Amino acid sequence: MSFRLAVAVLGGLVMTGTIAVPALDALCAPDTDVRDSGGPPATPPVVAVAAPEAPPAKPEVAPAEPTVEPSEPEAAPAAPEPAPADLVVIPPTEVNEETVWMAPPEVIPNCEARLEAAGIDFTPSRLPVHKTRGGIYCGAEQVVRYRKGPGEISWGGSPKVTCPVALGMARLEAIVQEEAERHLGRKVRRIQHMGTYNCREMANYPGWVSEHSYANAIDIKHFELTNGKKIPVLGSYPKNGAEPKNASARFLKAVARRLYDERAFSVVLTPSFDSNHRNHFHLDMARYLVDGT
Ligand SMILES: [Zn+2]
Repeated sequence: MSFRLAVAVLGGLVMTGTIAVPALDALCAPDTDVRDSGGPPATPPVVAVAAPEAPPAKPEVAPAEPTVEPSEPEAAPAAPEPAPADLVVIPPTEVNEETVWMAPPEVIPNCEARLEAAGIDFTPSRLPVHKTRGGIYCGAEQVVRYRKGPGEISWGGSPKVTCPVALGMARLEAIVQEEAERHLGRKVRRIQHMGTYNCREMANYPGWVSEHSYANAIDIKHFELTNGKKIPVLGSYPKNGAEPKNASARFLKAVARRLYDERAFSVVLTPSFDSNHRNHFHLDMARYLVDGT
């Protein structure tokens, strides 16, 4: 089984390739399900994933020099409605056979300034990059505690996430409040998440590392409205293209679609993706794009 993998590259190109899906199945099991399955993966510490089965063709236009500057909105032509420039944070990647697909995220020099500009209350934090006994790297250099975003939503504490994920959470808050008012007639006051950081070895899928290993992901279990009603992903999300059967389903579907289409996150996995995600949205800022809505 395979799925289409779209890779955002520097210079406005979006390329697609095919890659084995079991690896992605394993990218995000709920944190509570995670086990160190033992057995060191036989992979180098910084994982340069083997080229997809169909290696991406060389870009028709020579990519510019690699840079840590984020893509401009127009750099993602696959996105029907590009997000505002200050919240587009998909790291640019020069795609070739040497591309590093999975590694601690690059530092974005102005990311903290973007957090402030986006109205996010945060504090700098630390999650030192370290090598596990299994030979993979975990941690990230640019990590914050996300305290409050522009949507005035409580996240049940202050999740520790990478700066790009914090920017994505701010985009998520805006989307969630718009869609909650549209479909449910009131706002969301709280989001229940299931974790961000989890240093994972993927013994079954050597070479693939969860973005949770870098706190570059967050799992969302349910949304709580201002009247206390909870909208759980489990049992409410319309799977596999089914028509939403009620307002809660329309809300969840609309949120997931917009999170991906507007590139609030580069990977959006839902119950439609696989059974590992039957009860949560997995959202991350990987270097590749996966539409799992
Ligand atoms: Zn996850």
